[in-house]
Amino acid sequence: MSARKANASTHSIGETKKSWVSEHDFDRLEPMTFPYPHAAERYDTFRHHIWQQAVPTVHSQRPSSHPDELKLQACWFGGEYGRTFTGTEGEQIEIVQFGFWNRSSGPDFTHAAILIDGIPHHGSIEIDPDARDWERHGHGENPDFEDTILHVFIDTAARDRVYTRTVSHRLVPQILLPQYQGSRGAPDFLPEAFPGRCLAPLSRMSEDEIESLLIAAAQYRLRQKAERLRVMAVATSLRQALYQAIAEALGFGRNKTSMAILAQRCPLEQLLAIDRTEREARLFGTAGFLDPALADSSDAALSHDYQLSLWHSWWRIRDQIEPASHRTISWRSDGTRPHNHPQRRVAALACLLDRWGEVENWWGKPTYGLGKIVNNCVQLLFHPYWSYHFTLLSKASEKPIRLVGQDRARDILGNVIFPYTIDRYTASWQEYEELRSVDQNRKLRRACLRLFGQDAARKKLFTSYYYQQQGLLQIYQDFCLDDTSDCASCPFPEQLLQWRTGVETE
Ligand code: SF4
Repeated sequence: MSARKANASTHSIGETKKSWVSEHDFDRLEPMTFPYPHAAERYDTFRHHIWQQAVPTVHSQRPSSHPDELKLQACWFGGEYGRTFTGTEGEQIEIVQFGFWNRSSGPDFTHAAILIDGIPHHGSIEIDPDARDWERHGHGENPDFEDTILHVFIDTAARDRVYTRTVSHRLVPQILLPQYQGSRGAPDFLPEAFPGRCLAPLSRMSEDEIESLLIAAAQYRLRQKAERLRVMAVATSLRQALYQAIAEALGFGRNKTSMAILAQRCPLEQLLAIDRTEREARLFGTAGFLDPALADSSDAALSHDYQLSLWHSWWRIRDQIEPASHRTISWRSDGTRPHNHPQRRVAALACLLDRWGEVENWWGKPTYGLGKIVNNCVQLLFHPYWSYHFTLLSKASEKPIRLVGQDRARDILGNVIFPYTIDRYTASWQEYEELRSVDQNRKLRRACLRLFGQDAARKKLFTSYYYQQQGLLQIYQDFCLDDTSDCASCPFPEQLLQWRTGVETE
C-alpha cells in the first residue's frame, strides 16, 4: 500500500457526518470544534513544543556582484557574443542589425532588426547585467521602452523565472547570453541553497512516517484557514468572507492583499445589486485602473470602446468612491506572466460575480465532486474583452486566454471551499486529499530543499498532491521561518524521533 493511501485511511477528518447548515448558522457558530481528531491536534502540540525550545541567532548576508554594464553593452554591439542565440523560451533569435547607440532616454540600442523563429522584428534592444534590472530601473512602467524587441542579460534570479514586459504588458523576448550561463551569481535567498539539519533524520523516516507528518500539518493548516474564515464571517457576513477569500486566491502571491482590499472597498452585496457594466466599472475604478486619458491613448478600437464604456459608468460614482491619492491600491505586475496581470485578476473576479449564484453552490450544497464543479464553472468564464486581452491597453491576442487557470481553481478549492466545507461534509477531506498539486512557489521550493535536499524522488513523492504541499508549507512556516540560527537551535530534527515512535510531545 502506498504511503499516501496507508495514512489517508487512518487520518480521516470527517468521521461524523454533520447536517448542512445555512449560511447564517455559520455566523452563530462557536469557535470551531472540528472533527479533526488526532492528527491536527498532535501536530499542534508538536509545533508548540518545538517553538518553546528555539534559541535565535543571526544570519550572515552574502553580497552579490555584477559586471560593468557599459562594457557589456560595448561587447554586445561589437559582436563579441555572436549573432545567433536561443531565447529563454527556446526561440531561435538572429541579430540582423545591431542598431544604433541610444544617446537619450529609452533602451540602449535603437533601430535594431532581428529574426525570431524566422519572423522579422524591428525596434530597440536593452542590455542589462541582470534580468531583474528591467523592473529595478522602472522600464516596465516607462513608455520609452515600449518598442523594445529584445532584452539581453548575463544573469538572472537563481530560481524564479523573471519576465520582461512593457508598459502595455507585452512580453519581450529575452536572451541569457550563453557565455555566462552556468556561472550565475549567488542565489538571491541564502537558505534556498542549503538543506536543513532535519534532512538527515527525515531521510531515516519511512515514507509512511513522513506522510503522517504531512497529513497532520495539512489538517492543522486547513483548520487555521477555516478559523480565519469563521472570524471574518462573524465580523462581516459569510458571503462577504468567502467573496474576499476568493478574491485573495485570485490575487495569489503578489496581489493577494490588494485583492483583499478591493473586495473590502467593493462589498459583495453592493456589487450584486448593480448591473454587469456598472459592477466592472466600480471594480476597475476602485482598483485605480481607469483614467480617461488611457482610453484616448489606446490605438485598438475594442480597447478604446471597452474603456469608454467603463468610464461612462465610473465618472458618475467616482467622487463618492475614489480614494485619496495616498490611499490608492498598489498592484504588482513585475515578474508575472501576462496572463496574471492584476487587471486580469480583477476581470476574473468580475466574471465570477456574473455567475455568483453558481459560485455560491460551491459551498451551498456540498456534494462529492466539488473539484469538478469548480473547474467546469471557471472553464466557462468568458468576457468579450478580457478573454482576448492582457491589459486595458494591450492588443488582442489571437487565441482566447483563460481567465482562471487550473492552479487558481485549485487554490480557490484549497483555500476557500474545502476549509469551509471540511467540518460539514463527510467526504470533504477525501476530496481535498485527491486535489493535485499546484505550481511550486518560492516558499515551497525552499521547504523541499531544506527538508529533502537533493532527494528528487522524495521531493516528487511528497509534492504531488495539494495537501502535501500545504503540509510542507506549514512546517516551513512554523519552523524554518522562525529560525534565525541556520538550524543550529531548531529542535525540530530531535523531535522527529518522537513523531516516528508515536510518543506524544508534552
Ligand atoms: S529550521 Fe528546523 S525545520 Fe527548518 S530546515 Fe532547519 S532544522 Fe529543518
